[in-house]
Amino acid sequence: MTGKYSGGCSCGGVRYETSAEPVLQGNCHCHQCQRMTGSGYSATLFFPAPAVNVSGEVRVHSYIGNSGKEVRRSFCPNCGSQLFGQPSVMAGLLGIRAGTLDDTSMYAPTVNICTSSAAPWDHLDPSLPNFPEMPPMS
Ligand SMILES: [Zn+2]
Ligand SMILES: [Zn+2]
Repeated sequence: MTGKYSGGCSCGGVRYETSAEPVLQGNCHCHQCQRMTGSGYSATLFFPAPAVNVSGEVRVHSYIGNSGKEVRRSFCPNCGSQLFGQPSVMAGLLGIRAGTLDDTSMYAPTVNICTSSAAPWDHLDPSLPNFPEMPPMS
């Protein structure tokens, strides 16, 4: 694996890498992301899906997100680490959870979304723009 961005799950059963640059990076504070992460928000980098090479098997959970459209989330069936998110409103993109990067310092969020659901104990980066709900997707 020689991509610029690489990472994997907790047990090492799933690995990924890409040489592409992320097209979007941000923190989502919706309650579904809080449940998924077990924490205050999800931190995700979105890449063009075909540019990401994945090895190992993931399991996919689908549900209807705040947008009213399907969201697919992939996790390692062995260790349970959340790895990927694919909201259908962002067709063609694959979201990678920032905490799974080999070098987590490569994550550079540019936006906070769904901040109306942010937990009161969560400290939001004041230098980032906040969207109380899901911003409109073109
Ligand atoms: Zn695993
Ligand atoms: Zn969310």
